[in-house]
Amino acid sequence: MSVRHTNARQTTNIGDSLLINPVFVRPGEATQLPKFEMPDGPSLPETAYQIVHDEAMLDGNARLNLATFVSTWMDDEAKRLYAESADKNMIDKDEYPQTAAIEERCWRILANLWHAPDGAQTIGTSTIGSSEACMLGGLALKRHWQAKRREEGKSVESPNLVLSTGVQVCWEKFCNYFEVEPRWVPVSEDHLVLDGHDLEKYVDENTIGVVGIMGQTYTGMYEPIAEIAKKLDEIQETTGLDVKIHVDGASGAMIAPFCQPELEWDFRVDRVVSINTSGHKYGLVYPGVGWIVWRDTEALPESMVFHCSYLGGDMPTLALNFSRPGAQVLLQYYMFLRLGRDGYRDVQQGALDVAQYLSSAIEKIGPFELVSRGDTIPVFAWRLKAGHTANWNLYDLSDRLRMKGWLVPAYPLADNLADVTVQRIVVRAGLSHDLANALLRDLEGEVAYLDGLKSPLPREVAGSHFHH
Ligand SMILES: *Cc1c(COP(=O)(O)O)cnc(C)c1O
Repeated sequence: MSVRHTNARQTTNIGDSLLINPVFVRPGEATQLPKFEMPDGPSLPETAYQIVHDEAMLDGNARLNLATFVSTWMDDEAKRLYAESADKNMIDKDEYPQTAAIEERCWRILANLWHAPDGAQTIGTSTIGSSEACMLGGLALKRHWQAKRREEGKSVESPNLVLSTGVQVCWEKFCNYFEVEPRWVPVSEDHLVLDGHDLEKYVDENTIGVVGIMGQTYTGMYEPIAEIAKKLDEIQETTGLDVKIHVDGASGAMIAPFCQPELEWDFRVDRVVSINTSGHKYGLVYPGVGWIVWRDTEALPESMVFHCSYLGGDMPTLALNFSRPGAQVLLQYYMFLRLGRDGYRDVQQGALDVAQYLSSAIEKIGPFELVSRGDTIPVFAWRLKAGHTANWNLYDLSDRLRMKGWLVPAYPLADNLADVTVQRIVVRAGLSHDLANALLRDLEGEVAYLDGLKSPLPREVAGSHFHH
C-alpha cells in the first residue's frame, strides 16, 4: 500500500498508524468533526477536501443515472474553461463586459434557432435554470395581461394560467408564489398531453396565457404547440380573447431545432410569445444555466426590466437572482462554438437513436407496454402490461436495477392517471450503445428473476411523487 501524504508523514511521529488513514491523524487536528455545527477550529485543506470528497463519493454514479435530464459530462477544454471562470459573477456586467456580451450572443443564437422573426425586437436572458426562466415567462404573461386589463378599466383580481397536469413542478411553484390560479387540464388515456382538446372550457378573460411543454417530464412527449395555437385562434374568433402561449422547452427546445426541424412549435407559431430552455439539459452544459427568449419587447413589459449602467451605456437586466455563476454562460457559448448545428444534431440524434433502440428492446422483453418511444426528446417511459403479474411491480424492478447501480426511477403519472405507474429512462450523451446493452442485459436478468417469483413481494407504500 503506498501512502502519498508525505506532509503528514513528515510532521508526525506515529509511524505505521499513518497507514490507516493518514489525513485524519495529524497532530493537533480534530479526529471528529460535528456534522450539524460549525467546528471550533480550522482543518488542513487536505483534510477538509478528503471529508467532502468521500461524502460526495456516496452519491449515485452519474453515468448510470438514467433519471436526470441534467448534463453529467463535459470535455476537458470545457472543464478548463470552467475552472478558469469559476470566479465570475454573472451580475457584474460592468466588471465582466465580455461575459455579458457572450450572454447576449447566446440568447441571440437561441432566438435565431427558434425562428424569432425580428432580431432587433427580440429580447432574452440567461437564468439559473428553466425554473427561473419559467417564472420570468409566467410573470411577463401576467404583467402583460394586467396592463391590458387596466387600460380597459377591468379587474386584475383573478389571473389564471392554463396548463396540463403533466407540467414540471416549477409551474406549480409559479402559480403558488405569484398568485395565479392554475387551470389544470387533466392528462387522460385519450389525451396524454395538452392538445387543445376542450381548451375553450378553461380559457376566459382572466387567462394570462397557456403553457405548452416541449417534452413532458413524465413521458418525454411533445405537446402539439401549433394545434394548441389553432384552437386558441378559434377561441379568439368566437370570444375575442387573444391568449398567448409560453413554450416550456426545457429539454425539447434544444432537440427539435436539430432533429425535428420541420416541426413548427417555436416563434414560427404566431401565438408563441416566449420560450425557455435549460442550458444544462440538452444544451449540454453542467448544472446552473437556463435561457428565456421573448419574441419581442411587446411580449416583455418594460416594467419588468431593470436598467443598469454598463460601461457608460444602458444594460437592461431581468432576473430573480442577483449574483449567480457566469461560468456556465461561457460554457454554453463554448458548446455552441464547439459543436455548431451539425455537432448538436449528431449528439442529439445519437441520444435519440439509443433511446429508440432501448425502447424497442424493452418492448420486446414481454411484460412491458411503451407509453412513449423516445422519438421526441430522447426520453421514454413504459408501464407493466395489465394482468402480467401480481408478484412484482415497476418499483420492485427499479430497486433490483439499483442493486446493479442503475438508477431507473418508477413513479405514478400525473393527476387522474396517478394509478398508472411508469418507469422512465432519460438518454443523455454519455449513454452509449455499449452501456445501453449492459443495461438491457441487467434488465432482462432482473425481469427473469422477478418473473420466477412464486409469490408476491412484500409491499411497501408506493414510491413518492417524482418530478425532475
Ligand atoms: C427540467 C424541467 C424544468 C425545470 O428546469 P430546471 O432547469 O431544472 O430548473 C421545467 N420544465 C420542464 C418541462 C423540465 O423538463
